[in-house]
Amino acid sequence: MSGLRSERQRQSRFERGDDVVVMKFGGTSVEDAAAIRRLIGIVQSRLGAQAVVVVSALARVTDQLLEAGTAAANGHLGAALETVRSIYVRHEQLADSLVDGSAYSALDGELRGEFRALESLLHDLEASRQLDLKSQDHLLSFGECFSSRLVKEALCQAGLDAAHVDARACIVTDARHGQATPVWDVTEQRLQETVIPLLEAGQVPVLGGFIASTCDGVPTTLGRGGSDFSAAIVGAALCAARVEIWTDVDGIMTTDPKLCSEARVIRKMSFDEAAELAHFGAKVLHPATLAPAMRENITVYVLNSRRPAGEGTEIVARAKTGNLVSAITAKRRVAAVEIESVHGMNSELLRSVYAVFDRHSCAVDLMAASLGRISLLVGSTAALPAIAADLRGVAEVRWENHKALVCLVGENIRRQPDVASRAFAAVSDMDVRVVCQGASDRTISFLVEESKVEESVQRLHGIFFPQPEPARDWGGISSAFCQAG
Ligand code: ADP
Ligand code: ASP
Ligand code: MG
Repeated sequence: MSGLRSERQRQSRFERGDDVVVMKFGGTSVEDAAAIRRLIGIVQSRLGAQAVVVVSALARVTDQLLEAGTAAANGHLGAALETVRSIYVRHEQLADSLVDGSAYSALDGELRGEFRALESLLHDLEASRQLDLKSQDHLLSFGECFSSRLVKEALCQAGLDAAHVDARACIVTDARHGQATPVWDVTEQRLQETVIPLLEAGQVPVLGGFIASTCDGVPTTLGRGGSDFSAAIVGAALCAARVEIWTDVDGIMTTDPKLCSEARVIRKMSFDEAAELAHFGAKVLHPATLAPAMRENITVYVLNSRRPAGEGTEIVARAKTGNLVSAITAKRRVAAVEIESVHGMNSELLRSVYAVFDRHSCAVDLMAASLGRISLLVGSTAALPAIAADLRGVAEVRWENHKALVCLVGENIRRQPDVASRAFAAVSDMDVRVVCQGASDRTISFLVEESKVEESVQRLHGIFFPQPEPARDWGGISSAFCQAG
């Protein structure tokens, strides 16, 4: 999709200045009746614009579906059906408390139909005794199907004219199951054809995030946490004025508040910095989210659905956080891989290694190469035995698990020599390995033992984001008086 083409479409389908806002609500923002009521309030507060809602599965449902699928494929059908039954009961209870009358009966019928299809899939998994990525995508897609139907009816019950849109019929991807990539032209066209008429009729379209399908209609998913990406895809296709990511924290913070209680909200940051943060493990945004927003220059906000009045974080094309280091991220469950040529110096080594990793679809997080040796980091070791077998005779492959990648993100951070030295001084006693200055100038990262993540992030945060000095005691004069003076 070129910028030019989308500009033409923007002019032909929309009056310029039309104000589409895409709101994505994550799992915790739809986890129970109170959360869905807050969601309704937030959508009502945006009705001055043309609102589109994208929802994740209810909190924990995707993990439970995965658990059920694994159990069924291992022959434990009873346990799998029980897990799915508890998911069904949770949705039914929510439907009961949020929707009345004939709308409830219709929703109940839809949910029952979907659950029957899910149970039948579990029976198939038990029979085939395998859960491959294709069946896994089919299985996981149920979570967002349930939640989007539920939220649509809850919005209608609250008096909004909401319409359910099946994201699988609009977002078209390649067949890379588990982490599919959208086919932009078809996706853009289908979203425009489906969603724009609803907006023009004054309706609020509601889509499930994360889920899509191939051009042949086979269900795919955009990778865990992919509803953020769905919202950005929808936003880009509709040339939205803004994309809002509603979640359970006050915005993008200087680090994960679960790792460090002193984390603070970043009010404004650039697409580039936010994309680096997401790539290096900040779960608050799916790593692919910012690409469509960047391409169409759509402002993205990260906001707390539990505190809707907060300012959140605004992500725009150009912005400075005002700090040398903007944020610190940590990516857990990383494995460090060492590849050593069996023929000493080997200029072909890199080419052979690339080809083998590509053949096994093994994504590489970071890589450092010299003539006879390559060090790299991967997020999953599943393919490594097969990769080692393919490289036999060319190179020896060894790997170590339970590592974490800690990353400092900041504009031009690499050109500030004292950042690296201060960072390493802070963690010098921690067996820091593989130090890598990112290719982009915006990151410095290093590997630590997974057990040391919290401590290293807290130490670094203390250095680069020192707490303000406590207020001085002015001997009985009130602090209000001091400020006024
Ligand atoms: P949702 O279900 O709304 O998509 P996620 O759990 O995917 O929410 O993402 C929100 C979580 O991201 C937060 O609860 C927080 O623990 C984590 N997180 C990691 N890094 C950051 C960061 N830099 N700023 C804010 N939150 C972060
Ligand atoms: N429900 C999916 C997941 O848990 C997608 C998302 O929440 O964004 O990964
Ligand atoms: Mg998420």
